[in-house]
Amino acid sequence: MAQDSKVALITGANRGIGLETAKQLGEQGVTVVVAARKLDAAKETADKLKAQGIDAYPLQLDVTNVGDRAAAAKFFAEKFGRLDILINNAGVAASTGFEPVNSQVTDDELERIFSTNLFAVVALTRELLPLIKKSPAGRIVNLSSILGSNGLHADPASPIYGFKSFAYDGSKAALNSYTIHLAWELKDTPIKVNSAHPGWVKTEMGTDAAPMEIPEGAKTSVALALLGADGPSGRFIHLGQELPW
Ligand code: NAP
Repeated sequence: MAQDSKVALITGANRGIGLETAKQLGEQGVTVVVAARKLDAAKETADKLKAQGIDAYPLQLDVTNVGDRAAAAKFFAEKFGRLDILINNAGVAASTGFEPVNSQVTDDELERIFSTNLFAVVALTRELLPLIKKSPAGRIVNLSSILGSNGLHADPASPIYGFKSFAYDGSKAALNSYTIHLAWELKDTPIKVNSAHPGWVKTEMGTDAAPMEIPEGAKTSVALALLGADGPSGRFIHLGQELPW
């Protein structure tokens, strides 16, 4: 790794938007640590990126696993001594897909979705924050969703008014709240924290019905990861435009 190059951790980097985000950041000269639940998947991903000339390292990280999170912090402390960019990308969808499940949502479903989409993000960020504070310009990107916008959900005229599935939507709304709180806590530091809506993207989660291709879907995460010192913090962004909370 070049002395002045940035190092990024992308969770859930073995496929979908995470993989493409790692590729696009790598193409811009960022050293990317590609994390996946399974070590084999992480290694395969890093090898693929390395073959494209990208400086990539594999990391086994199930974001819901406390031991994996501690090992991730140890890896960054020992290998790089800091972390410049954290992309909290790993996420899970409702087991019922786009079916609107609200009053009938089960405890298991709430637990499963909030564990990955919210609790793991808070815990991983807490674990890595001391290393992000060692960066001259730390950036934290939380992969949210337009479906986490309470403002749009409450508006009968909004395009998402009819797309309500509480467990997923609530997990992303709470993640947005975390973005606001963390950005406030870090407002007197160089660290910027933002929520990204990637768009509705053709991935396993987004399905083939999605209008956006994956390269376009990674652009918001990449832009927020590479924000300059004058960039926003504590915002909810899609392709450079602010979304309502
Ligand atoms: P995806 O193709 O389903 O990929 C999800 C990624 O998250 C996979 O790499 C998956 O790993 C990983 N993951 C899930 N649970 C994990 C865990 N416990 N530990 C580590 N990794 C875990 O989804 P995507 O469409 O790329 O979505 C990426 C992010 O964007 C998510 O946060 C999602 O909510 C958000 N988003 C997506 C869309 C869309 O239209 N696609 C829209 C709005 C927001 P495995 O391969 O091991 O399962």
